[in-house]
Amino acid sequence: MSVRVVARIRPLLDKELDKDMIVRADSIEPGKPNTMVKIPNPRNEGEEFSFTFNSVYDQSTSQETLFTSEVAPYLKSLFQGLDVTIFAYGVTGTGKTHTMRGGMKLADRGVIPRLLSGVFRRGKKIMKDTGGETTVEVALSYYEIYNDKVYDLLEPPEKRTPTGLPLRAEASGRTVVVGLSERSCADLKDFEKLYIEANTNRVTAATKLNAHSSRSHAILRVKLTQTTGDMVRESTASAIDLAGSEDNRRTDNGKERLVESAAINKSLFVLSQCIDAISRGDKRIPYRESKMTRILSLGQNNGITVMILNLAPLRSYHLDTLSSLNVSSRAKRI
Ligand code: ADP
Ligand code: MG
Repeated sequence: MSVRVVARIRPLLDKELDKDMIVRADSIEPGKPNTMVKIPNPRNEGEEFSFTFNSVYDQSTSQETLFTSEVAPYLKSLFQGLDVTIFAYGVTGTGKTHTMRGGMKLADRGVIPRLLSGVFRRGKKIMKDTGGETTVEVALSYYEIYNDKVYDLLEPPEKRTPTGLPLRAEASGRTVVVGLSERSCADLKDFEKLYIEANTNRVTAATKLNAHSSRSHAILRVKLTQTTGDMVRESTASAIDLAGSEDNRRTDNGKERLVESAAINKSLFVLSQCIDAISRGDKRIPYRESKMTRILSLGQNNGITVMILNLAPLRSYHLDTLSSLNVSSRAKRI
């Protein structure tokens, strides 16, 4: 099992150009790659806090660089049969969806379309190199966890059962969603069509509930099956865009938002407790206390996990940024 924890600082947006950047990337020694995030102490601006990560990407980092450095190296492991999980953690507005999904323009595409593109390319190469003796199949599932309930995003919102889908622990140690649909995908075009449709389902369902999609965790699961004669090798890549980690108690929420934020805060709180328990070496990890942590099973599987902490450099995010830095920098000790 390996967990990499990296941070990515987003640039100022056009409407923010008059604001100060209070968060910066730094290196331990000049000339070394950035591994530290520096941020002022909100109680004493003269003092600076530092948090250490495996890598820190500053505001000038392109989508391509992030993918090439943090995700592409694990494509090989995935094809060797290891499970790979990439998840984005951070406050709403810090760039989680930009990092995972990205924009429509080629250069703006995020981790997910690039991952799929890499999987299809490698799969085709294997089939070609083995003269068709090995077949590679890709199947997708896409779902969200909202208020601790699991909903299939490949199904239209009308088909949602209010109680959501149940989870089950498999003998392999994986936790699976019972009844989740799976669509086979032949190429990137196939994938894009499904993905766009599913994201529309996500927004429609959220609108009906008078909510916002940043309040749910979105999980894309890519199942890879490689078959050579009788031998079948199965592995999964999961890409997760977590709900915003901000503390909603500080904002002026209506009643519905409060129920929601209790569930969101709870699953993210359980995640931070799991991170602490694992980094302390505890035997008892409270995974079972939320569906998101059961599915994420951080440190439980023998695969590879990359946690991307997204950060906005603005002062208006100061306290939430500090709390997200605290949680994720502890994850580095896993
Ligand atoms: P989140 O999903 O964490 O709420 P978003 O991904 O929606 O945040 O990002 C918030 C805004 O910042 C969006 O307008 C997005 O396009 C922009 N943004 C985020 N990261 C970057 C980046 N690295 N480069 C340019 N724009 C970014
Ligand atoms: Mg988002």
